[in-house]
Amino acid sequence: MENRRPAELDLPLNLKMLSPKLQKQLEESLGISSVGQLLNYFPRTYLAPGELTALAELPLGEEVTLIARVQSANSRRMRTRKGKLLDVVVTDDDAGRLGTMHLTFFNGYNAERQLTPGTRAVFSGKTGSYRGQLTLTNPRYSLLDEGEGGVEEHLRPVPVYPASEQISSATIKTCVYQLLDSLAHSQLNDPVPSHIAGRDRLMNITQAYEMIHRPHEVEDAYRAQHRFRYQEALVLQTALARRRAEALAEEATSRPHRQGGLRDQFDASLPFSLTAGQRDIGEQLEADLAAAHPMNRLLQGEVGSGKTLVALRAMLQVIDSGGQAALLAPTEVLAAQHYQSIRRTLGPLAEGGMLGGAVDGTRAVLLTGSMSMAQRREALLAAASGDAGIVIGTHALLSENVQFFDLGLIVVDEQHRFGVEQRDALRAKAAAAPHMLVMTATPIPRTVAMTVFGDLDVSTLTELPAGRAPIATHVVGLSENPRWIDRAWARAREEIDAGRQVYVVCPKIGDSQMEADSADALELYEGPPANRQELTSVLELFESLSEVPALAGVNKGLLHGRLDPSEKAATMGGFNDGSISLLVSTTVIEVGVDVPNATLMVIMDADRFGISQLHQLRGRIGRGGHPGTCLLVTQLEPEHPSRERLDAVAATTDGFELSQKDLELRREGDILGASQSGGRSALRFLKVIQHAEVIEKARKDAQGLVDADPTLADHPELEEALDLYLNAEKEAFLERS
Ligand code: ADP
Ligand code: MG
Repeated sequence: MENRRPAELDLPLNLKMLSPKLQKQLEESLGISSVGQLLNYFPRTYLAPGELTALAELPLGEEVTLIARVQSANSRRMRTRKGKLLDVVVTDDDAGRLGTMHLTFFNGYNAERQLTPGTRAVFSGKTGSYRGQLTLTNPRYSLLDEGEGGVEEHLRPVPVYPASEQISSATIKTCVYQLLDSLAHSQLNDPVPSHIAGRDRLMNITQAYEMIHRPHEVEDAYRAQHRFRYQEALVLQTALARRRAEALAEEATSRPHRQGGLRDQFDASLPFSLTAGQRDIGEQLEADLAAAHPMNRLLQGEVGSGKTLVALRAMLQVIDSGGQAALLAPTEVLAAQHYQSIRRTLGPLAEGGMLGGAVDGTRAVLLTGSMSMAQRREALLAAASGDAGIVIGTHALLSENVQFFDLGLIVVDEQHRFGVEQRDALRAKAAAAPHMLVMTATPIPRTVAMTVFGDLDVSTLTELPAGRAPIATHVVGLSENPRWIDRAWARAREEIDAGRQVYVVCPKIGDSQMEADSADALELYEGPPANRQELTSVLELFESLSEVPALAGVNKGLLHGRLDPSEKAATMGGFNDGSISLLVSTTVIEVGVDVPNATLMVIMDADRFGISQLHQLRGRIGRGGHPGTCLLVTQLEPEHPSRERLDAVAATTDGFELSQKDLELRREGDILGASQSGGRSALRFLKVIQHAEVIEKARKDAQGLVDADPTLADHPELEEALDLYLNAEKEAFLERS
């Protein structure tokens, strides 16, 4: 057991492994002080000898990599510009081939110091020509140590490490190689169980560290990378599988369906029939809620696919068996909207105890931060006494003075704006673990769901209820033709004259604070600074629309997150009942608003919104059986990269296709960003899109392992890796908060 040291990677680097000078350098420049940190400092890329080309045969205008020896180096001041120009002549006579080449460095002070005659190095860059001769300009290079072996040695791939001003790739390489030599006879603990390694012919961990740093061929490095990637996926998925297992072991109150109860009465009162998806998922939820352990389910589906209806039926089932349900919305406007639409949808069923209400009816109450004391007190009482079967609110529901009589189900609308911690806070309000349903209208590709929401079961509504009309989306490029905005207003007039209603959405409010409507969590994209145009604000646009002849006499409303609640309510009410024809608004209308008569949406500075946000916004129109039109107005030139997002949104209404596109256009970190990942920031090698197969396989393996061995007693190495991972996750989380 001598070489099976626990947490061996945590050992500090010591004298036997590395000279004090190198240790100091590593610590100071990269903060590396332990064995594991250094082993896990992986090469950024490899310079492959297979791709080496003789100087005489180099092609023009291509990326090349070559090993050569410096013959001469001369530097001179430039005549037309400030600075120095270094001309280095290299030869590849080492390899028994004869040829020379000029390398040019502008202000290459390091190069001047390092590339002295006789030095050998690997150079790479794109070939160009100067005065008829092939050159490389400012090539990347990595010095090769003398006496490190002959040509043979250099036919191996050269690892290139992420270097810095203070430490070069070559020095890091020296450190890593000394460490590997000192570890040559020890066997590191391997988190990947041997039966899996055997099945997939994965390298063991010791070998993998050797091969990722010192591959014989580049393929070795790739195989090692693959192994580490799998390991990462396995550790992550095992953590998730264990969380699922823990949730299954947790006890919850069973909330079975009651024949003839509110849910049955509600079903009988529906003016339409459920879609097949709503029916299937409904059955699943019915079974989940009846179980004696908590449901943890993610319900995803496009805006308007009928998620809220599915959730409402689940709430009624819980109420039928004596419990209460809480519905959490991301903003006050949305909470109020849910409240109104649930009361409308339930009708007499939500008027329990009131004249004309159903005999066994329940009550729905709204609880938000901005309500008057009296209103609040009444709602709090209804929640605590159990009078209210459904309590709707924002995170105000999380505050300490909110009590429930018997909270059985928590529905969270729009998960991506709601942190894991907040869910946990609400969960703590129930005596036994409540059932949990998370709804999101942002379609999440399967592997992202498995990574980010891996502890949730996922249900997806794929079809829209019948009667949805198509939405046509057009990009209105004002840089091509500024007058197109007038066309947009004329179009709005046509809709209004036909009895329809219009949304106009702007990216900012425009009051003194001059910033995004943060209450609405607007995800503005940063454009390149040169193109930072003045954004259209709600307040300014509302003013200037009164001067637009085409809109003369149109009744317009104004809505944003900083209005006081009564004004907000009045405006929403006016738009709902049709007395307001045109609503100028921030993204407060993004989710949940349901005005079927609205057919046109004009989005100003649409380039400042994300793909999924645009898609959700336009989901507000085309709901009443009338076809909808969405105009994406932008001031950016057609070539601007942000226009690509607009074109993507205009090209399809398929939410899944769009979210895939979104992933391609955005950086990974944005997707697994803090708010969504719940702290899962430790992914190093996995790319959720590229490595879908690895993730799927690891998920299956992890589930198998945890099923067979819930405490991982037979897999201490995996358990240890899991602890390290969970600690890192916790630390990352603490750092952020
Ligand atoms: P989501 O929450 O997914 O945005 P909702 O549940 O709010 O969708 O439904 C959007 C609209 O469609 C609501 O007016 C709702 O009453 C209606 N609706 C829901 N399910 C159906 C159905 N099966 N057939 C017809 N209309 C439906
Ligand atoms: Mg909804």
